[in-house]
Amino acid sequence: MGEAQVSLEHLFRVFTKPEHKDSKMAQIEQHLSDNILDFLSQHVVTKKTSLEEIEKDFSDSKVPESPEFVSTHAESLLDKLVAHSVNTYSPTFIGHMTSALPYFHLPLSKLMVGLNQNLVKIETSKAFTPLERQVLGMMHNLVYDESKAFYDSHLHSAKRSLGAFCSGGTIANITALWVARNKILGPQEGFAGVAKAGLAAAYRFHDINHLGVMCSKRGHYSLSKAVDALGLGRDQLLSLPAPNQTLDPEKALAAGKCYQEEGNKLLAIVGVGGTTETGHVDPLNELADVAKELGCWFHVDAAWGGATLFSSQYKHRLKGIERADSVTIDAHKQMYVPMGAGMALFKNPEDANAVRHHAQYILRAGSKDLGATTLEGSRNGMAMMVYSAMHIFGRRGYELLIDRSIEKAGTFADMIAKHPDFELTTAPTLSLLTYRVCPAGLQEKLKHADEATKDKINEKLDRLTVIVQKQQREAGKSFVSRTRLEAPEYPTNCITVFRVVLANPLTSTQDLRNILNEQHVIATGTKLYKELVKMIETIPVA
Ligand SMILES: *Cc1c(COP(=O)(O)O)cnc(C)c1O
Repeated sequence: MGEAQVSLEHLFRVFTKPEHKDSKMAQIEQHLSDNILDFLSQHVVTKKTSLEEIEKDFSDSKVPESPEFVSTHAESLLDKLVAHSVNTYSPTFIGHMTSALPYFHLPLSKLMVGLNQNLVKIETSKAFTPLERQVLGMMHNLVYDESKAFYDSHLHSAKRSLGAFCSGGTIANITALWVARNKILGPQEGFAGVAKAGLAAAYRFHDINHLGVMCSKRGHYSLSKAVDALGLGRDQLLSLPAPNQTLDPEKALAAGKCYQEEGNKLLAIVGVGGTTETGHVDPLNELADVAKELGCWFHVDAAWGGATLFSSQYKHRLKGIERADSVTIDAHKQMYVPMGAGMALFKNPEDANAVRHHAQYILRAGSKDLGATTLEGSRNGMAMMVYSAMHIFGRRGYELLIDRSIEKAGTFADMIAKHPDFELTTAPTLSLLTYRVCPAGLQEKLKHADEATKDKINEKLDRLTVIVQKQQREAGKSFVSRTRLEAPEYPTNCITVFRVVLANPLTSTQDLRNILNEQHVIATGTKLYKELVKMIETIPVA
Protein backbone atom coordinates (compact mmCIF):
# COMPACT_ATOMS: atom_id res chain seq x y z
CA MET A 1 0.00 0.00 0.00
CA GLY A 2 1.37 3.39 -1.02
CA GLU A 3 4.50 1.66 -2.25
CA ALA A 4 6.35 3.51 -4.99
CA GLN A 5 8.58 2.08 -7.66
CA VAL A 6 12.25 1.59 -7.03
CA SER A 7 13.49 3.37 -10.14
CA LEU A 8 15.79 6.26 -10.85
CA GLU A 9 12.98 7.85 -12.80
CA HIS A 10 10.79 7.91 -9.72
CA LEU A 11 13.63 9.23 -7.58
CA PHE A 12 14.37 12.02 -10.06
CA ARG A 13 10.76 13.08 -9.77
CA VAL A 14 11.17 13.40 -6.00
CA PHE A 15 14.13 15.74 -6.54
CA THR A 16 12.67 18.03 -9.19
CA LYS A 17 10.40 20.94 -8.42
CA PRO A 18 6.65 20.67 -9.06
CA GLU A 19 5.76 21.53 -12.64
CA HIS A 20 2.61 23.54 -12.03
CA LYS A 21 0.72 24.99 -9.13
CA ASP A 22 -1.94 22.26 -9.07
CA SER A 23 0.65 19.51 -9.04
CA LYS A 24 0.42 16.64 -6.63
CA MET A 25 3.19 18.12 -4.47
CA ALA A 26 1.41 21.48 -4.27
CA GLN A 27 -1.75 19.68 -3.17
CA ILE A 28 0.15 17.82 -0.48
CA GLU A 29 1.64 21.09 0.70
CA GLN A 30 -1.78 22.71 0.99
CA HIS A 31 -3.20 19.67 2.74
CA LEU A 32 -0.42 19.68 5.34
CA SER A 33 -0.76 23.43 5.93
CA ASP A 34 -4.50 23.09 6.52
CA ASN A 35 -3.92 20.24 8.90
CA ILE A 36 -1.36 22.10 10.98
CA LEU A 37 -3.59 25.13 11.30
CA ASP A 38 -6.46 22.89 12.30
CA PHE A 39 -4.33 21.10 14.88
CA LEU A 40 -3.08 24.37 16.35
CA SER A 41 -6.60 25.63 16.95
CA GLN A 42 -7.41 22.72 19.23
CA HIS A 43 -6.72 21.85 22.86
CA VAL A 44 -3.24 21.39 24.32
CA VAL A 45 -3.63 17.64 24.00
CA THR A 46 -6.20 16.40 21.51
CA LYS A 47 -5.83 12.65 21.61
CA LYS A 48 -5.36 11.02 24.97
CA THR A 49 -3.01 8.26 23.92
CA SER A 50 -0.38 6.96 26.28
CA LEU A 51 3.28 7.27 25.37
CA GLU A 52 3.55 3.47 25.40
CA GLU A 53 0.76 3.30 22.83
CA ILE A 54 2.50 5.88 20.63
CA GLU A 55 5.82 4.05 20.92
CA LYS A 56 4.23 1.10 19.12
CA ASP A 57 3.98 3.26 15.99
CA PHE A 58 7.71 3.91 16.17
CA SER A 59 9.05 0.53 17.09
CA ASP A 60 10.37 -0.92 13.83
CA SER A 61 14.15 -0.74 13.87
CA LYS A 62 14.57 -1.63 10.21
CA VAL A 63 14.96 0.94 7.45
CA PRO A 64 11.99 0.48 5.10
CA GLU A 65 13.07 -1.54 2.09
CA SER A 66 10.98 0.17 -0.59
CA PRO A 67 10.19 3.82 -1.31
CA GLU A 68 6.82 5.26 -0.35
CA PHE A 69 4.77 7.91 -2.18
CA VAL A 70 5.10 11.33 -0.58
CA SER A 71 1.32 11.60 -0.35
CA THR A 72 1.08 8.29 1.50
CA HIS A 73 3.89 9.26 3.79
CA ALA A 74 2.30 12.66 4.54
CA GLU A 75 -0.89 10.93 5.66
CA SER A 76 1.06 8.68 7.95
CA LEU A 77 2.81 11.66 9.52
CA LEU A 78 -0.49 13.40 10.15
CA ASP A 79 -1.85 10.29 11.75
CA LYS A 80 1.09 9.10 13.82
CA LEU A 81 2.95 12.29 14.59
CA VAL A 82 0.90 15.45 14.25
CA ALA A 83 -2.16 14.06 15.99
CA HIS A 84 -0.04 13.17 19.03
CA SER A 85 2.00 16.37 19.24
CA VAL A 86 1.62 19.00 21.95
CA ASN A 87 -0.18 22.16 20.91
CA THR A 88 2.26 24.72 22.22
CA TYR A 89 0.19 27.44 20.50
CA SER A 90 -2.71 27.04 22.89
CA PRO A 91 -3.28 30.16 25.03
CA THR A 92 -3.70 27.80 28.00
CA PHE A 93 -0.29 26.19 27.46
CA ILE A 94 1.58 28.31 29.99
CA GLY A 95 4.08 25.89 31.47
CA HIS A 96 7.19 26.29 29.37
CA MET A 97 9.34 28.77 27.49
CA THR A 98 8.36 27.16 24.19
CA SER A 99 5.18 28.85 23.00
CA ALA A 100 3.16 30.01 20.02
CA LEU A 101 4.97 31.31 16.96
CA PRO A 102 3.66 34.10 14.77
CA TYR A 103 2.32 32.45 11.61
CA PHE A 104 4.62 34.33 9.25
CA HIS A 105 7.37 31.90 10.25
CA LEU A 106 5.61 29.06 8.43
CA PRO A 107 5.88 30.51 4.90
CA LEU A 108 9.22 32.21 5.61
CA SER A 109 10.79 29.00 6.84
CA LYS A 110 10.26 27.58 3.36
CA LEU A 111 12.84 30.04 2.11
CA MET A 112 15.33 28.86 4.67
CA VAL A 113 14.74 25.16 4.10
CA GLY A 114 14.37 25.62 0.35
CA LEU A 115 17.63 27.47 -0.14
CA ASN A 116 19.48 25.14 2.26
CA GLN A 117 22.40 27.48 2.79
CA ASN A 118 25.22 26.36 5.05
CA LEU A 119 26.60 29.14 7.21
CA VAL A 120 29.82 27.31 7.96
CA LYS A 121 31.45 28.92 4.94
CA ILE A 122 30.78 31.75 2.49
CA GLU A 123 30.96 29.39 -0.49
CA THR A 124 27.69 27.81 0.61
CA SER A 125 25.94 30.82 2.09
CA LYS A 126 26.96 34.10 0.40
CA ALA A 127 24.36 36.69 1.50
CA PHE A 128 23.31 34.64 4.51
CA THR A 129 26.73 35.28 6.08
CA PRO A 130 26.48 39.10 6.12
CA LEU A 131 22.85 38.70 7.26
CA GLU A 132 23.90 36.56 10.22
CA ARG A 133 26.63 39.03 11.10
CA GLN A 134 24.11 41.85 11.02
CA VAL A 135 21.76 39.93 13.31
CA LEU A 136 24.62 39.40 15.78
CA GLY A 137 25.44 43.10 15.46
CA MET A 138 21.88 44.14 16.22
CA MET A 139 21.78 41.91 19.30
CA HIS A 140 25.22 43.14 20.37
CA ASN A 141 23.96 46.69 20.01
CA LEU A 142 20.90 45.87 22.12
CA VAL A 143 23.13 44.61 24.95
CA TYR A 144 26.26 46.77 24.71
CA ASP A 145 25.06 49.86 22.85
CA GLU A 146 28.45 50.72 21.32
CA SER A 147 29.01 53.60 18.87
CA LYS A 148 28.18 53.54 15.18
CA ALA A 149 31.91 53.63 14.43
CA PHE A 150 32.36 50.49 16.52
CA TYR A 151 29.77 48.57 14.51
CA ASP A 152 31.00 50.03 11.22
CA SER A 153 34.44 48.64 11.84
CA HIS A 154 33.57 45.26 13.39
CA LEU A 155 30.27 44.05 11.96
CA HIS A 156 31.73 42.52 8.79
CA SER A 157 35.36 42.26 9.81
CA ALA A 158 37.07 38.98 8.89
CA LYS A 159 39.27 39.21 11.97
CA ARG A 160 36.63 39.84 14.59
CA SER A 161 33.19 38.71 15.58
CA LEU A 162 30.51 40.23 17.74
CA GLY A 163 29.13 36.84 18.63
CA ALA A 164 28.42 33.27 17.61
CA PHE A 165 25.08 32.17 16.27
CA CYS A 166 24.22 28.63 17.37
CA SER A 167 21.39 26.20 17.88
CA GLY A 168 20.46 27.31 21.39
CA GLY A 169 21.31 28.58 24.84
CA THR A 170 23.16 25.42 25.80
CA ILE A 171 25.63 25.72 22.93
CA ALA A 172 25.83 29.48 23.49
CA ASN A 173 26.80 28.97 27.14
CA ILE A 174 29.37 26.33 26.19
CA THR A 175 30.76 28.63 23.47
CA ALA A 176 31.06 31.58 25.84
CA LEU A 177 32.85 29.52 28.50
CA TRP A 178 35.04 27.91 25.83
CA VAL A 179 36.20 31.36 24.72
CA ALA A 180 36.72 32.34 28.36
CA ARG A 181 38.74 29.19 29.06
CA ASN A 182 40.98 29.67 26.03
CA LYS A 183 41.57 33.31 26.93
CA ILE A 184 42.25 32.80 30.62
CA LEU A 185 44.58 29.87 29.90
CA GLY A 186 45.82 31.47 26.68
CA PRO A 187 49.27 31.33 25.09
CA GLN A 188 52.05 33.19 26.88
CA GLU A 189 55.83 33.00 27.30
CA GLY A 190 56.65 29.35 27.93
CA PHE A 191 53.16 27.99 27.32
CA ALA A 192 51.38 27.31 24.02
CA GLY A 193 47.91 27.87 25.48
CA VAL A 194 45.20 25.43 26.54
CA ALA A 195 43.71 25.16 23.04
CA LYS A 196 46.94 23.60 21.80
CA ALA A 197 48.51 22.03 24.90
CA GLY A 198 45.41 20.79 26.72
CA LEU A 199 44.13 21.22 30.26
CA ALA A 200 46.66 19.06 32.09
CA ALA A 201 49.53 21.12 30.72
CA ALA A 202 47.66 24.33 31.48
CA TYR A 203 47.10 23.34 35.11
CA ARG A 204 50.78 22.43 35.47
CA PHE A 205 51.92 25.67 33.91
CA HIS A 206 49.63 27.80 36.09
CA ASP A 207 50.23 25.57 39.11
CA ILE A 208 46.55 25.13 39.86
CA ASN A 209 44.43 22.16 40.89
CA HIS A 210 41.21 23.16 39.21
CA LEU A 211 39.44 25.73 37.12
CA GLY A 212 35.92 26.56 38.31
CA VAL A 213 32.73 28.33 37.26
CA MET A 214 30.44 29.98 39.78
CA CYS A 215 26.69 30.50 39.61
CA SER A 216 23.72 30.21 41.95
CA LYS A 217 21.77 27.00 42.42
CA ARG A 218 19.27 28.47 39.96
CA GLY A 219 21.87 28.37 37.19
CA HIS A 220 20.68 26.43 34.15
CA TYR A 221 21.78 22.76 33.89
CA SER A 222 23.54 23.58 30.62
CA LEU A 223 26.30 25.13 32.77
CA SER A 224 26.91 21.74 34.30
CA LYS A 225 27.16 20.26 30.79
CA ALA A 226 29.55 23.09 29.89
CA VAL A 227 32.07 22.45 32.69
CA ASP A 228 31.88 18.77 31.82
CA ALA A 229 32.40 19.24 28.07
CA LEU A 230 35.19 21.77 28.62
CA GLY A 231 37.07 19.29 30.76
CA LEU A 232 36.79 21.18 34.06
CA GLY A 233 34.56 18.53 35.64
CA ARG A 234 31.08 18.90 37.10
CA ASP A 235 32.45 19.25 40.64
CA GLN A 236 33.99 22.53 39.56
CA LEU A 237 30.61 24.16 38.99
CA LEU A 238 30.34 26.07 42.24
CA SER A 239 26.60 26.59 42.60
CA LEU A 240 25.84 28.64 45.68
CA PRO A 241 22.56 28.27 47.62
CA ALA A 242 19.93 30.78 46.56
CA PRO A 243 17.07 30.97 49.05
CA ASN A 244 16.21 34.35 47.52
CA GLN A 245 16.57 32.87 44.03
CA THR A 246 19.64 34.97 43.15
CA LEU A 247 23.41 34.84 43.51
CA ASP A 248 24.45 36.90 46.53
CA PRO A 249 27.44 39.08 45.50
CA GLU A 250 29.06 39.04 48.96
CA LYS A 251 28.80 35.28 49.22
CA ALA A 252 30.09 34.96 45.66
CA LEU A 253 33.12 37.07 46.50
CA ALA A 254 33.86 35.12 49.65
CA ALA A 255 33.42 31.75 47.94
CA GLY A 256 35.57 32.87 45.01
CA LYS A 257 38.40 34.01 47.29
CA CYS A 258 38.21 30.79 49.26
CA TYR A 259 38.34 28.74 46.04
CA GLN A 260 41.36 30.64 44.75
CA GLU A 261 43.16 30.33 48.10
CA GLU A 262 42.81 26.55 47.86
CA GLY A 263 45.06 26.56 44.82
CA ASN A 264 42.36 26.86 42.15
CA LYS A 265 41.54 29.44 39.55
CA LEU A 266 38.07 30.85 39.02
CA LEU A 267 37.27 30.89 35.31
CA ALA A 268 33.96 32.72 35.34
CA ILE A 269 31.03 34.00 37.31
CA VAL A 270 27.74 33.37 35.55
CA GLY A 271 24.91 35.74 36.35
CA VAL A 272 21.48 34.70 35.12
CA GLY A 273 19.23 37.23 33.43
CA GLY A 274 15.96 35.47 34.10
CA THR A 275 16.31 32.03 35.69
CA THR A 276 14.54 29.14 34.04
CA GLU A 277 12.74 28.12 37.20
CA THR A 278 11.54 31.39 38.69
CA GLY A 279 12.52 34.15 36.26
CA HIS A 280 14.67 35.99 38.79
CA VAL A 281 17.55 38.19 37.67
CA ASP A 282 20.89 38.02 39.49
CA PRO A 283 22.32 41.38 40.66
CA LEU A 284 24.36 41.70 37.47
CA ASN A 285 25.99 45.04 38.22
CA GLU A 286 27.29 43.88 41.59
CA LEU A 287 28.40 40.55 40.15
CA ALA A 288 30.38 42.43 37.48
CA ASP A 289 32.28 44.09 40.34
CA VAL A 290 32.89 40.74 42.01
CA ALA A 291 34.21 39.22 38.77
CA LYS A 292 36.52 42.19 38.37
CA GLU A 293 37.83 41.83 41.90
CA LEU A 294 38.40 38.10 41.46
CA GLY A 295 39.99 38.62 38.06
CA CYS A 296 37.67 36.25 36.22
CA TRP A 297 35.35 36.29 33.22
CA PHE A 298 31.78 37.54 33.64
CA HIS A 299 29.14 35.74 31.62
CA VAL A 300 25.43 36.53 31.68
CA ASP A 301 23.02 33.77 30.75
CA ALA A 302 20.06 35.75 29.45
CA ALA A 303 18.83 32.93 27.20
CA TRP A 304 15.25 33.53 28.25
CA GLY A 305 15.24 37.03 29.80
CA GLY A 306 17.49 38.83 27.32
CA ALA A 307 14.58 40.00 25.18
CA THR A 308 13.54 42.23 28.10
CA LEU A 309 16.11 44.67 26.71
CA PHE A 310 13.57 45.58 24.01
CA SER A 311 11.42 47.19 26.68
CA SER A 312 12.22 50.78 27.71
CA GLN A 313 10.18 50.25 30.83
CA TYR A 314 11.72 46.99 32.03
CA LYS A 315 15.23 46.79 30.59
CA HIS A 316 16.68 48.27 33.77
CA ARG A 317 15.90 44.95 35.44
CA LEU A 318 18.93 43.59 33.55
CA LYS A 319 21.16 46.47 34.58
CA GLY A 320 24.81 45.48 34.51
CA ILE A 321 24.39 43.07 31.58
CA GLU A 322 26.37 45.56 29.48
CA ARG A 323 29.38 44.86 31.70
CA ALA A 324 29.43 41.14 30.87
CA ASP A 325 32.30 39.76 28.79
CA SER A 326 29.77 37.48 27.10
CA VAL A 327 26.00 37.15 26.99
CA THR A 328 23.73 34.29 25.92
CA ILE A 329 20.37 35.08 24.32
CA ASP A 330 17.93 32.61 22.76
CA ALA A 331 15.78 34.06 20.00
CA HIS A 332 13.60 30.94 20.22
CA LYS A 333 12.38 31.97 23.65
CA GLN A 334 10.96 35.47 24.07
CA MET A 335 11.72 36.57 20.52
CA TYR A 336 9.17 34.17 19.06
CA VAL A 337 11.48 32.53 16.53
CA PRO A 338 11.37 28.78 15.76
CA MET A 339 13.72 26.62 17.79
CA GLY A 340 17.35 26.52 16.84
CA ALA A 341 18.26 30.18 17.34
CA GLY A 342 20.75 30.84 20.12
CA MET A 343 23.46 33.46 20.33
CA ALA A 344 26.60 34.05 22.37
CA LEU A 345 27.60 37.72 22.18
CA PHE A 346 31.06 39.03 23.01
CA LYS A 347 31.73 42.47 24.46
CA ASN A 348 35.20 42.47 22.92
CA PRO A 349 35.11 41.58 19.18
CA GLU A 350 38.64 40.11 19.45
CA ASP A 351 37.66 37.49 22.03
CA ALA A 352 36.21 34.88 19.67
CA ASN A 353 39.68 34.58 18.14
CA ALA A 354 40.60 32.51 21.19
CA VAL A 355 38.72 29.60 19.59
CA ARG A 356 39.43 30.41 15.92
CA HIS A 357 40.14 27.37 13.83
CA HIS A 358 41.49 27.07 10.32
CA ALA A 359 41.36 24.28 7.81
CA GLN A 360 42.70 24.11 4.28
CA TYR A 361 39.70 23.27 2.11
CA ILE A 362 37.40 25.41 4.26
CA LEU A 363 37.77 28.17 6.82
CA ARG A 364 40.92 29.52 5.17
CA ALA A 365 42.83 32.15 7.12
CA GLY A 366 41.50 35.64 6.39
CA SER A 367 38.14 34.39 5.11
CA LYS A 368 34.85 35.57 6.57
CA ASP A 369 33.65 32.01 7.12
CA LEU A 370 31.56 31.94 10.27
CA GLY A 371 32.53 28.32 10.92
CA ALA A 372 36.00 29.39 12.03
CA THR A 373 34.75 30.56 15.43
CA THR A 374 31.63 28.46 16.04
CA LEU A 375 31.48 25.20 17.95
CA GLU A 376 29.01 23.76 15.47
CA GLY A 377 29.99 22.99 11.89
CA SER A 378 27.24 22.91 9.28
CA ARG A 379 24.47 25.28 10.29
CA ASN A 380 21.26 26.37 8.60
CA GLY A 381 20.09 29.89 7.85
CA MET A 382 18.11 30.28 11.06
CA ALA A 383 19.51 33.79 11.49
CA MET A 384 17.13 34.76 8.69
CA MET A 385 14.17 33.98 10.94
CA VAL A 386 15.60 36.26 13.64
CA TYR A 387 16.27 38.92 11.01
CA SER A 388 12.72 38.69 9.70
CA ALA A 389 11.12 38.70 13.14
CA MET A 390 13.14 41.78 14.11
CA HIS A 391 11.92 43.57 10.99
CA ILE A 392 8.33 42.44 11.18
CA PHE A 393 7.93 43.26 14.89
CA GLY A 394 10.47 46.07 15.20
CA ARG A 395 11.85 46.98 18.59
CA ARG A 396 8.59 48.63 19.50
CA GLY A 397 6.61 45.55 18.58
CA TYR A 398 8.79 43.39 20.79
CA GLU A 399 8.50 46.00 23.52
CA LEU A 400 4.72 45.70 23.45
CA LEU A 401 4.90 41.91 23.68
CA ILE A 402 7.41 41.94 26.54
CA ASP A 403 5.53 44.61 28.48
CA ARG A 404 2.28 42.74 28.07
CA SER A 405 3.78 39.45 29.30
CA ILE A 406 5.27 41.09 32.38
CA GLU A 407 2.03 42.88 33.17
CA LYS A 408 0.05 39.68 32.72
CA ALA A 409 2.37 37.88 35.13
CA GLY A 410 1.64 40.65 37.65
CA THR A 411 -2.10 40.20 37.15
CA PHE A 412 -1.85 36.44 37.60
CA ALA A 413 0.30 36.87 40.71
CA ASP A 414 -2.38 39.15 42.22
CA MET A 415 -5.05 36.64 41.35
CA ILE A 416 -3.10 33.87 43.13
CA ALA A 417 -2.22 35.98 46.15
CA LYS A 418 -5.86 36.96 46.62
CA HIS A 419 -7.17 33.42 46.29
CA PRO A 420 -7.53 31.93 49.79
CA ASP A 421 -6.45 28.43 48.73
CA PHE A 422 -3.36 29.28 46.71
CA GLU A 423 0.03 30.50 47.86
CA LEU A 424 2.32 32.60 45.65
CA THR A 425 5.79 31.12 46.26
CA THR A 426 7.86 33.44 44.07
CA ALA A 427 6.52 36.73 42.70
CA PRO A 428 7.39 37.55 39.09
CA THR A 429 10.42 39.71 38.27
CA LEU A 430 9.71 39.18 34.58
CA SER A 431 6.94 36.98 33.17
CA LEU A 432 7.53 33.82 35.19
CA LEU A 433 6.09 32.91 38.57
CA THR A 434 5.60 29.96 40.89
CA TYR A 435 2.82 29.07 43.32
CA ARG A 436 1.09 26.12 44.91
CA VAL A 437 -2.18 24.99 46.39
CA CYS A 438 -2.37 25.58 50.12
CA PRO A 439 -5.78 25.52 51.86
CA ALA A 440 -6.90 28.72 53.56
CA GLY A 441 -5.87 28.72 57.21
CA LEU A 442 -2.91 26.44 56.57
CA GLN A 443 -0.77 29.21 55.10
CA GLU A 444 -0.97 31.29 58.28
CA LYS A 445 -0.34 28.30 60.54
CA LEU A 446 2.64 27.19 58.43
CA LYS A 447 4.33 30.57 58.84
CA HIS A 448 4.56 30.10 62.58
CA ALA A 449 4.97 26.34 62.78
CA ASP A 450 8.19 24.67 63.92
CA GLU A 451 10.52 23.16 61.32
CA ALA A 452 9.38 19.58 61.83
CA THR A 453 5.71 20.50 61.34
CA LYS A 454 6.60 22.62 58.31
CA ASP A 455 8.40 19.70 56.72
CA LYS A 456 5.55 17.32 57.42
CA ILE A 457 2.93 19.63 55.93
CA ASN A 458 5.13 20.63 53.00
CA GLU A 459 5.65 17.01 52.10
CA LYS A 460 1.86 16.59 51.81
CA LEU A 461 1.49 19.84 49.90
CA ASP A 462 4.21 18.64 47.51
CA ARG A 463 2.24 15.52 46.77
CA LEU A 464 -0.93 17.56 46.27
CA THR A 465 0.84 19.83 43.77
CA VAL A 466 2.07 16.83 41.80
CA ILE A 467 -1.42 15.27 41.70
CA VAL A 468 -3.04 18.49 40.54
CA GLN A 469 -0.38 19.20 37.91
CA LYS A 470 -0.63 15.69 36.46
CA GLN A 471 -4.42 15.58 36.41
CA GLN A 472 -4.63 18.97 34.77
CA ARG A 473 -2.12 17.95 32.13
CA GLU A 474 -3.91 14.70 31.46
CA ALA A 475 -7.27 16.47 31.14
CA GLY A 476 -5.65 18.13 28.11
CA LYS A 477 -7.22 21.58 28.25
CA SER A 478 -4.32 23.43 29.81
CA PHE A 479 -0.73 22.94 30.86
CA VAL A 480 1.22 24.34 33.79
CA SER A 481 4.63 22.86 34.64
CA ARG A 482 6.09 22.13 38.06
CA THR A 483 9.50 22.32 39.70
CA ARG A 484 11.15 21.98 43.11
CA LEU A 485 12.93 24.87 44.78
CA GLU A 486 13.74 26.66 48.02
CA ALA A 487 11.19 29.42 48.31
CA PRO A 488 11.77 32.58 50.39
CA GLU A 489 9.25 31.39 53.01
CA TYR A 490 10.77 27.91 53.10
CA PRO A 491 14.50 28.47 52.63
CA THR A 492 15.83 25.23 54.08
CA ASN A 493 14.07 22.47 52.19
CA CYS A 494 12.85 22.36 48.62
CA ILE A 495 9.13 22.47 47.97
CA THR A 496 7.19 21.49 44.85
CA VAL A 497 5.49 24.34 43.05
CA PHE A 498 3.57 25.10 39.88
CA ARG A 499 5.59 27.06 37.36
CA VAL A 500 4.01 29.42 34.86
CA VAL A 501 5.69 31.17 31.93
CA LEU A 502 3.53 33.82 30.31
CA ALA A 503 4.69 33.99 26.72
CA ASN A 504 1.70 33.60 24.44
CA PRO A 505 0.29 37.09 23.71
CA LEU A 506 -3.14 35.50 23.22
CA THR A 507 -3.41 34.16 26.79
CA SER A 508 -6.20 36.19 28.39
CA THR A 509 -6.97 37.00 32.01
CA GLN A 510 -10.01 34.75 31.65
CA ASP A 511 -7.75 31.87 30.52
CA LEU A 512 -5.68 32.36 33.67
CA ARG A 513 -8.80 32.45 35.85
CA ASN A 514 -10.01 29.21 34.23
CA ILE A 515 -6.67 27.50 34.79
CA LEU A 516 -6.69 28.43 38.46
CA ASN A 517 -10.30 27.32 38.86
CA GLU A 518 -9.55 24.00 37.20
CA GLN A 519 -6.67 23.43 39.61
CA HIS A 520 -8.89 24.37 42.54
CA VAL A 521 -11.58 21.90 41.52
CA ILE A 522 -9.01 19.11 41.09
CA ALA A 523 -7.29 19.91 44.40
CA THR A 524 -10.40 20.17 46.57
CA GLY A 525 -11.64 16.88 45.14
CA THR A 526 -8.67 14.93 46.50
CA LYS A 527 -8.50 12.99 49.74
CA LEU A 528 -5.19 14.62 50.49
CA TYR A 529 -6.74 18.09 50.45
CA LYS A 530 -9.41 17.06 52.94
CA GLU A 531 -6.72 15.54 55.14
CA LEU A 532 -4.78 18.78 55.05
CA VAL A 533 -7.83 20.85 55.96
CA LYS A 534 -8.44 18.56 58.96
CA MET A 535 -4.86 18.99 60.07
CA ILE A 536 -5.16 22.78 60.33
CA GLU A 537 -6.83 22.57 63.75
CA THR A 538 -4.17 20.23 65.13
CA ILE A 539 -1.26 22.56 64.38
CA PRO A 540 -0.45 24.51 67.53
CA VAL A 541 -0.22 28.28 67.25
CA ALA A 542 3.36 29.14 68.12
C1 LIG B 1 16.55 27.80 27.99
C2 LIG B 1 17.73 28.20 28.75
C3 LIG B 1 19.00 27.68 28.46
C4 LIG B 1 19.22 26.58 27.44
O1 LIG B 1 18.86 26.96 26.18
P1 LIG B 1 18.51 25.89 25.06
O2 LIG B 1 18.14 26.76 23.92
O3 LIG B 1 17.40 25.07 25.59
O4 LIG B 1 19.73 25.09 24.80
C5 LIG B 1 20.07 28.13 29.20
N1 LIG B 1 19.91 29.06 30.16
C6 LIG B 1 18.71 29.59 30.47
C7 LIG B 1 18.61 30.61 31.55
C8 LIG B 1 17.57 29.17 29.77
O5 LIG B 1 16.38 29.69 30.08
